[in-house]
Amino acid sequence: MAIFEGLSTRLQETFQRLRGKGKLTEDDVKEAMREVRLALLEADVNFKVVKEFVEKVRERAVGQEVLQSLTPGQQVIKIVNDELTELMGGTQSRIALASKPPTVIMMVGLQGAGKTTTTGKLANLLKKQNRYPLLAACDIYRPAAIKQLQVLGEQVKTQVFSMGDQVSPVDIAKNAVEHAKMHGFDYVLIDTAGRLHIDEALMDELKKIKEAVNPDEILLVVDAMTGQDAVNVAENFHQQLGITGTILTKLDGDTRGGAALSIRSVTGTPVKFAGMGEKLDALEPFHPDRMASRILG
Ligand code: GDP
Repeated sequence: MAIFEGLSTRLQETFQRLRGKGKLTEDDVKEAMREVRLALLEADVNFKVVKEFVEKVRERAVGQEVLQSLTPGQQVIKIVNDELTELMGGTQSRIALASKPPTVIMMVGLQGAGKTTTTGKLANLLKKQNRYPLLAACDIYRPAAIKQLQVLGEQVKTQVFSMGDQVSPVDIAKNAVEHAKMHGFDYVLIDTAGRLHIDEALMDELKKIKEAVNPDEILLVVDAMTGQDAVNVAENFHQQLGITGTILTKLDGDTRGGAALSIRSVTGTPVKFAGMGEKLDALEPFHPDRMASRILG
């Protein structure tokens, strides 16, 4: 099942019934909102987010201009579309650039979320825009992490800055930024360590790297397949580290979409990119309006 498929089917059925009714009453809207609420909960959207969302839509939908219009069903769909778009951030959120290059981006996330792959994908995307990213190998704990980044670097033809696994990640990050300045790279993508769980040592190290290089972006890579766990991880990282945005991976997989719909609202930070597959070109800017259209069909 593709992302949002279940949600999409449920909502389309609900709106089909609304459209069939012609003129709507407040009760019709209430009934439809009950169904929207259930559909969102079934799609694993955070329950507080669902509550606020449904209330907003209901308030707008029982407005006189909607109920008295000739196509009230259509209008309700438009309101849901607008509010879904808003929920996911409204407009596309771009990378914040440094006033003076290089733009420093810290890539953070738990092991297995897709952080290292996504770092390679982001470098690939930037290269296609004629940018010169430098990859910095700061995950010195996972045995194969440096090698994995080097292989990705070769594939996207981008230099990887590494000092092996005996130098502290803070020093590697600092040196990478210096190297980038000296050699005219306009981005530094710092691949940091991942752990299976959030722990103090991980957060301490990330905070130290943040202090040392003052990044323009701290992007948290989370696996959309993990649903509300992804949202909780994001909330936790944001509280402790202050992330500037998220990248949702595995949106090509069997996910109900709850993370994509909740994460912006719960963390207050935008989703910047979506991972759509294992290949290096499978990273896309996250477009809230297109995502909403996918849901409503
Ligand atoms: P890390 O531990 O967070 O650095 O995770 P990796 O970058 O090693 O990725 C873990 C696994 O997820 C790998 O098998 C990747 O190919 C896979 N992966 C990463 N992003 C995506 C995605 O957007 N879609 C799919 N289907 N797989 C992904």
